[in-house]
Amino acid sequence: MSANMQVDSSVRAFLGRRLGHFIDGAMVEGEGQPVAVYDPSTGEVLAKVPDATKGEVDRAVASARRALEGDWSRLRPADRERILIRLSELIEAHGEELAQLETLNQGKSIALSRMLEVGHSVEFCRYMAGWATKIEGTTIDVSIPIPPGTRYRAMTLREPVGVVGAIVPWNFPLIMAVWKITPALACGCTVVLKPAEETPLTALRLAELCMEAGVPPGVVNVITGNGASAGAALASHPGIDKVAFTGSTEVGRKIGHAAVDNMTRFSLELGGKSPVIMLDDVPTEMAVGGSAMAIFFNQGQVCTAGSRLYVHKKAFDQVVNGLAAAAGSMPIGPGLDPNNQVNPLVSARQRDRVCSYIEQGLSAGARAVTGGKASPRPGYFVEPTVLVDVDHSMSVVREEIFGPVVVAMPFDDLDEVARRANDSEYGLGASIWSNDLGKVMTLVPKIKAGTVWVNTHNMIDPAMPFGGFKQSGYGREMGRAAIDLYTETKSVCIAY
Ligand code: NAP
Ligand code: MG
Repeated sequence: MSANMQVDSSVRAFLGRRLGHFIDGAMVEGEGQPVAVYDPSTGEVLAKVPDATKGEVDRAVASARRALEGDWSRLRPADRERILIRLSELIEAHGEELAQLETLNQGKSIALSRMLEVGHSVEFCRYMAGWATKIEGTTIDVSIPIPPGTRYRAMTLREPVGVVGAIVPWNFPLIMAVWKITPALACGCTVVLKPAEETPLTALRLAELCMEAGVPPGVVNVITGNGASAGAALASHPGIDKVAFTGSTEVGRKIGHAAVDNMTRFSLELGGKSPVIMLDDVPTEMAVGGSAMAIFFNQGQVCTAGSRLYVHKKAFDQVVNGLAAAAGSMPIGPGLDPNNQVNPLVSARQRDRVCSYIEQGLSAGARAVTGGKASPRPGYFVEPTVLVDVDHSMSVVREEIFGPVVVAMPFDDLDEVARRANDSEYGLGASIWSNDLGKVMTLVPKIKAGTVWVNTHNMIDPAMPFGGFKQSGYGREMGRAAIDLYTETKSVCIAY
C-alpha cells in the first residue's frame, strides 16, 4: 500500500476480507483462479478476487432472474425511488472509504475520487431515483377499420427490459458501476455486473451498500474476473435480456455479436479519439488550460479524452509550448497525495501499451515536445506527453491510446479542421474553443460526435445524453435516453 498516507480503518478492514463474488445478497467465495488486484502507484498486490467460472455466472444470472420475478417486480415505483435515494445517501456517507479504495486500486488522485467517483455517483444515483416514478407510456387513437363498428384504443407500457448484464472498464470504476446499476434499478430491472479485472473493489462495496439501502437480494449481483472468461460468459448468456457495455471498440464489437446471436438488447459506449479545436481568437492561457484538462485529466484514461489537438496555425507554437510547460511542471506521484497531478496508469499493461504507442509515433517521425516515456519511479507512471510533427497516417493520431498523450497539429481554416476532426473511425466527443459564435455554430453541425463541447471538454451530467457516433458506440446513456435503454415498449390494443 502507498506510503505516507493515512488510510481509513474501514478501507483496511475491507482489504483484509476474503473477497469473492456478490450473488443473491451476499459475498460468496469463488472457485475460479484468483486474480490479483494491484496498487498501481507501487505495483504491490492489494487484494485478490476470483475469476468467475461458467457455473458462477449461471448462478448470478439465475439469482437476478429470481429477483426480477420476485418481490422486486411488486415494489411500487416510489419504493424503488426511496431505495435509490437511500443508496445515494449511503454512497455519500461512505464517500471517504470509497474514494480511498478507488485511489488505491485505480491510481487516480484522491481529489478526483472524492469529487467525481463519489460526488458524481451520488448525484447520478439521486437523479436516476427520480426517474423511477416518471416512466410513462402513451395513449394512441388508432384507426383499425375491421370488423366494422368496432372501436379501438391503444396505449403503450414501458416495462423493465429484465435481467441486465453490465460489463465495465477500469477508468472510472465506481461511476461506471453506478451508471449501469442505477438506471436499471429505476426501471425495475435486475443486474449482474462484471467490473474490470483491474478494478473490482468499489463495485463489490457498492453491492453491499445496495443491500443496506434495501435492494432485495439478487437484484444486484457482481461477478469478478477476466473479460475473456467471466465477461464473455455473461455477454453470451441466454439468461440475460440486455447487455450494457462500456469499454474498447474491439471488445464492444464482440459483445454486440454475442448479443445479436441471442437477440439480447445491447448498448455500447466505446472508444474515442476526440478532437479539441482551438480557433484563433482563444486567449493562450485558456487554450493551454483547456487542452491540458482535456487530455491529462485522469491520466488520459477517459473515453472522451481530448487526444487530438488542432490549433489555429497563428497560435500553434505558443499553445503547444504552453501546454508542454504545463505538462512538464505537474507534480508526479501517488494519487493519495492530492498535490500530485500526475498519477499512475491503472496497470503495467496499460503503461506498456501507452509507451508502445509513443514509440510507434516517434519512430514514424513524431517529436515529443515534452514527456515521451514511462517514469523511472516504481508503479505505472507515464510522463504527460505532447507529440508534434504528426499526421493522420500515424497510429498515434488514429488510434485510442488511453493515456496522457496528445498529438498537436496546426490548421488554417474551418472546413479543413472539420474534415480532419472527422477523419477518424471514432465519434464520441469533440470540443470547439472560441467566442466567435458564427464560427462555433458553423462547426457544431459539421462535427460527427455524440457530444460537442464549446469552451469546455469532458463535462458530463446525468441529465445530458451521452454516447457515440460511428465506432464509438450504440445507444445513449443518461437522461431520458437511459430509461429507453432499460425498458421495453409494450403496445396494448383494446377493442370495445
Ligand atoms: P476492454 O478490454 O474493452 O475491457 C472493458 C471490459 O470488458 C472489462 O470489464 C473487460 O474485462 C471486459 N472484456 C474484455 N474482453 C471481453 C470479452 N471478450 N467479452 C466480454 N467482456 C470482455 O478494455 P481494457 O482491456 O480494459 O482496455 C484496453 C483498451 O480499451 C484501452 O487501452 C482503451 O484504449 C480502451 N478502453 C476504452 C474505454 C472507454 O471508455 N472508451 C474504457 C476502457 C478501455 P477485463 O477487464 O477483465 O479484461
Ligand atoms: Mg481488460
